[in-house]
Amino acid sequence: MIIALRHVKELTTWSVNETHIRIGSGVPYAAIEKGDIAVLLPALAQASRTVGSPQIRAVGTIGGNLGTCSPAGDTLPVLSALDATVHLQSQNSQREVSIHDFMLGVKRNARAVNEIITDISIPIANGYQGYSKVGVRNAMVISVASACLAHNPSSRSVHIALGAVGPTIIRAREAEAWLSSHANLAQLDANTDDSTIHEFGRRVALEARPITDHRSTADYRKHAIGVLAQRLLKRACQ
Ligand SMILES: Cc1cc2nc3c(=O)[nH]c(=O)nc-3n(C[C@H](O)[C@H](O)[C@H](O)COP(=O)(O)OP(=O)(O)OC[C@H]3O[C@@H](n4cnc5c(N)ncnc54)[C@H](O)[C@@H]3O)c2cc1C
Repeated sequence: MIIALRHVKELTTWSVNETHIRIGSGVPYAAIEKGDIAVLLPALAQASRTVGSPQIRAVGTIGGNLGTCSPAGDTLPVLSALDATVHLQSQNSQREVSIHDFMLGVKRNARAVNEIITDISIPIANGYQGYSKVGVRNAMVISVASACLAHNPSSRSVHIALGAVGPTIIRAREAEAWLSSHANLAQLDANTDDSTIHEFGRRVALEARPITDHRSTADYRKHAIGVLAQRLLKRACQ
């Protein structure tokens, strides 16, 4: 049996409760980049705005980004930084997989052949969330390096996830842990030392595992990811 997922209405809805936002896998980028989802998940909206052209964003879906599982997929660093959960369903069963266990490698994920992605749930948090990407142009471009940083003052944490600098999305957990002991994560503000921001960027770059390919060199990617990390942390402090 073949199912045209584009025609399954249930996959195109989204909802919110007290703790989580649930986004159907068939929701297109165009619905994420503005409106209520953009207010709740600003980094996901920023990432969605950078995907292709308006035509691509009108038909391309977040489920398609997860299904493709490219290391350069724009929504994936955001889902990683926000500790999203992927919901999968087959004819006979349902299961939930942490985004960190879902993404396995270059265009490889944990979905079984008889499963579809039904939706993604994302915890609601109230701190700064930002996404930034470097490419060879300003628009219609696949990432050479990308990053999402999410600050959660309640849990005193900063999460940073890196795109296009490894076989799949990388969470820079050592840099995250270093920052938690060198900055006041209950209240990041403009008093945060420049040297702390610089060192955070340097440590993030150390966790990247880029390759040289037709889009960029490994050296440039490593440099760029450190700069992106510094910029995002600086914005979180403002
Ligand atoms: C011109 C162009 C520019 C692009 N630019 C970007 C860009 O800037 N950034 C970016 O990240 N991507 C980009 N893409 C890639 C693409 O648009 C995205 O990956 C998009 O999310 C695909 O969504 P889709 O709904 O069209 O998925 P499809 O192309 O239909 O599917 C992609 C894969 O996911 C699987 N899949 C889709 N939905 C599900 C589901 N619900 N359950 C299980 N498997 C599923 C499909 O079987 C397939 O393997 C671009 C593509 C084009 C053609």
